[in-house]
Amino acid sequence: MTSVSHAPHSLPSYLNPDELGPWGIYLQQVDRVAPYLGSLSRWLETLKRPKRLLIVDVPIQMDNGTMAHFEGYRVQHNTSRGPGKGGVRFHQDVTLSEVMALSAWMSVKNAAVNLPFGGAKGGIRVDPRQLSVGELERITRRYTSEIGVIIGPTKDIPAPDVNTDERVMAWMMDTYSMNEGSTATGVVTGKPLALGGSLGRREATGRGVFTVGEAAANHLGLDIAQARLAVQGFGNVGAIAAQLFVEAGAKLVAVQDHSDTLYNPAGLNVAQLQAHVKSTGAIAGFASGESIKPAQFWEVDCDILIPAALEQQITEANAPKIRARMVIEGANGPTTPQADDILAERQILVIPDVMANAGGVTVSYFEWVQDFSSFFWSEEEINARLVKIMREAFAHIWQTAQTHQVSLRTATFIVACTRILQARQLRGLYP
Ligand code: GLU
Repeated sequence: MTSVSHAPHSLPSYLNPDELGPWGIYLQQVDRVAPYLGSLSRWLETLKRPKRLLIVDVPIQMDNGTMAHFEGYRVQHNTSRGPGKGGVRFHQDVTLSEVMALSAWMSVKNAAVNLPFGGAKGGIRVDPRQLSVGELERITRRYTSEIGVIIGPTKDIPAPDVNTDERVMAWMMDTYSMNEGSTATGVVTGKPLALGGSLGRREATGRGVFTVGEAAANHLGLDIAQARLAVQGFGNVGAIAAQLFVEAGAKLVAVQDHSDTLYNPAGLNVAQLQAHVKSTGAIAGFASGESIKPAQFWEVDCDILIPAALEQQITEANAPKIRARMVIEGANGPTTPQADDILAERQILVIPDVMANAGGVTVSYFEWVQDFSSFFWSEEEINARLVKIMREAFAHIWQTAQTHQVSLRTATFIVACTRILQARQLRGLYP
């Protein structure tokens, strides 16, 4: 038998070693789990190579009659435990290595909360704010057609992510269904209710962030009713998480998005801020907070910090200045491994993305099950099941961290990678 290289960071040739970005972070996280996998580490290389990568050209006609070409991606990182699952991101900075990392984090996340899914992710390199509604619809439909060869209700199920929402999911579902010749509601999750969407899906990621935050606060002896909160990103995840913490008595003292950074030690009114963002699209111009410099956000005196925007926000540069007692990662990949180490040294607890933001995909799973059975559940039932899954998964990961004396991130990777590689081993190599 030819031997397989087990060298750390063996890179596929399509990646430029100097431009690894988030994929490089993911590889370091995988390396940290290797010593805890026993004989399963034989399969570890599997996790360092996405199973399937698709890059597509997405040409559309713009409103002014010209033609524009955009780059689209869908990466299926691993399907050992079930179909690929993960969102689609529209952002001007999307790259292949970013989508690769996001797809890998989906594999880990889905296994961490024990959903019967592998991991996948997609994206288009476009700033959707520059598109009209018609252009947005055309780019979504063309992209869906192009990735239609690898997605499907039992193959790979997209969902919302940064800058995609229910409306985009409705177009994706319709495009796939028209091409197939029959309505396939289960091909995407995060759909509008009228098209087989699930109650509670929109709030699910934020609710999951709150649920694990509550459980961790208990361990730390931190009273949420007295806690001060700082949130980066005020979209689907950050705004809902902030709302739930504030409903539990916490104060939102700082918030940051692409437009501004607002600070108010007396607490910002979350409902009013949500209404402001709904009408203007961003937090800038909200009257009741003081506008501070973006870098100052990380130095704000608070108890709980929730990065809920993009990757690589907490770095060596700002980690030494963070004053929170815990960081709950609503975003995917917001903390670099170097920053992780600094926070650990400073005894700031980090609840990693692959655990903290799993609430969204958990209710996506419920949506997919409901679509398959054409039987829909009440919101109470969905929220109760979500909270149960998040609490149990968090307790298991907390215990694993205690047993091995590792961070919650490495503990989550231990639990998840063990599950993925067990499935991999049981299935065996074929053909
Ligand atoms: N985009 C979300 C995430 O990063 C949800 C994915 C899904 O529901 O499939 O977890």
